Amino acid sequence: MNGRRLLDEFTLIDRYFAPLAKGFPGAFALTDDAAVFRPEAGCDIVATTDTMVEGVHFFPDDPPALVARKLLRVNLSDLAAMGARAKAYLLTVVFRADTEEAWVAAFAQGLAEDQAAFGVHLVGGDTVASEGPKTFTVAALGEVPSGKALRRAGAKIGDDVYVTGTIGDAALGLAWGKGELSFLAAKDAAHLLGRLRLPTPRLGIGGDLLGLAHAAIDISDGLAADLGHVAEQSGVRAAIEAARVPLSAAAKAALAREAAFLSTVLTGGDDYELLFTASAESGKEIASFAAKHATPITRIGRIEEGTGVEVRDAAGERIPLAEAGYRHF
Ligand code: ADP
Ligand code: MG
Repeated sequence: MNGRRLLDEFTLIDRYFAPLAKGFPGAFALTDDAAVFRPEAGCDIVATTDTMVEGVHFFPDDPPALVARKLLRVNLSDLAAMGARAKAYLLTVVFRADTEEAWVAAFAQGLAEDQAAFGVHLVGGDTVASEGPKTFTVAALGEVPSGKALRRAGAKIGDDVYVTGTIGDAALGLAWGKGELSFLAAKDAAHLLGRLRLPTPRLGIGGDLLGLAHAAIDISDGLAADLGHVAEQSGVRAAIEAARVPLSAAAKAALAREAAFLSTVLTGGDDYELLFTASAESGKEIASFAAKHATPITRIGRIEEGTGVEVRDAAGERIPLAEAGYRHF
């Protein structure tokens, strides 16, 4: 091996990962075989995992801190979609033998930043070397009052359909990256790219929706595809109005110039906003959550009898959708 060989596994854990476990006594500073903790009385544990692979989910030259933060955030977004409080996470890293220590340091720094922002702690993981692409897996653990987790199933006929934040930014950011939106002003492009690189898990809103939302999901595959999951799991049809879908100023600028990007907005993924349904009587309370969390929450449609997802234009005509959602297989 040449002089650029990465530090050994135990030095790495001790130097970069153990500090991230400091705030969680049951992690034993990563010196034992596993972490131990007890859920709060009356709570269920909520568990989820996501992996990011170099060349698939991020570029080799992406800033390591952003890669780390996005990985943590997409996991936290799944907890948010269940209405859970985020508590802890496990991290499996697959580095190449020649991965620079500075890369690992920046990666760990990104995690430290977001741990502080979202109140979670690293409690364990695995550290492996391989000649393949860098690969990172986070498994996030949260808690929710027993039996109260938000589910995809549960949307009721007559429910309103809501989304948080703005939709389509991440997919438009990706389109910009491919050179498809070169007409955009620099600040609009920066906004879209920022949304792609660093989503915001809606943990606060997710928690507030407990006992209020009938069904919830986070939008990772795209608005149409994820709404389709809710419709399927709930045995209903979801009808939304395209004109109600909330757009950022940057997304509006893209659509104003090229209306065809509406399809990118409706079917593109990676926004990590929450989509949920609730009865009309909950409208006032939901509006108060938007103010409380300084995040738009917009009613975009309604749950109807039937199956599937229908997107309608202002005249009530059905808008045909391109193939919905990204699939690995
Ligand atoms: P074992 O061989 O018994 O699985 P390891 O040597 O892999 O143990 O890990 C020792 C401890 O360090 C364990 O508590 C494990 O959870 C933790 N650990 C290893 N890698 C990581 C990592 N990348 N992030 C967080 N904790 C880690
Ligand atoms: Mg191990």
